[in-house]
Amino acid sequence: MPDPEFDSSLEDYRSIELGVGRLMQSVCAPFCSVCPTPCCRTAICREAAESPFLVAVHGSRVPFDQKSGYLGATGCKLGAGRPPVCHAFICNRIMSQQPDDERRHALDVLGEVVGYLGKKVWLRRHLVEAMTDADLRRTDLALFRKRLTTASSALGVLESYFSSDRELTPSERAELEQIKKRPEA
Ligand code: SF4
Ligand code: SF4
Repeated sequence: MPDPEFDSSLEDYRSIELGVGRLMQSVCAPFCSVCPTPCCRTAICREAAESPFLVAVHGSRVPFDQKSGYLGATGCKLGAGRPPVCHAFICNRIMSQQPDDERRHALDVLGEVVGYLGKKVWLRRHLVEAMTDADLRRTDLALFRKRLTTASSALGVLESYFSSDRELTPSERAELEQIKKRPEA
């Protein structure tokens, strides 16, 4: 039976994930487009084909290929519904080229936004761990909505920060801390 509240949360999830992907692409494309050792793996793609939650996000519109997973000639064929690790992994080739620690931290937080959304919202575990559609009905929707609101706000901060040459304000830092704490200097 359709659940309008869950469907509306999924729409917001997609929108945030696409926003993260766009911003990540703008920072990482110069490195990934010439990378000699790309990090995508079919075993990682498989999670997007097997997790009922991720399938609900991408809607199975793109078929999973046993050899190449979701990797196409120009990169990942999934816009949304990628495993969270696909957003979280930012290699040292990219991190080491960031101008300072604040930029590195901001990029690190950007990578964590998608994973943060599903954290502990399904039986205190991550939403991608739900194994059946029936499992998904046990999602803590109130917590999921709270995470969507926090992540959307953090993404707004990151979009503004990466589009300018400036430092984060104290309140922006506090917003990003809700997604991931900054390591002690
Ligand atoms: S994240 Fe790093 S390892 Fe992966 S494709 Fe981009 S440059 Fe290559
Ligand atoms: S980014 Fe896409 S192609 Fe790469 S591992 Fe993730 S799902 Fe697979």
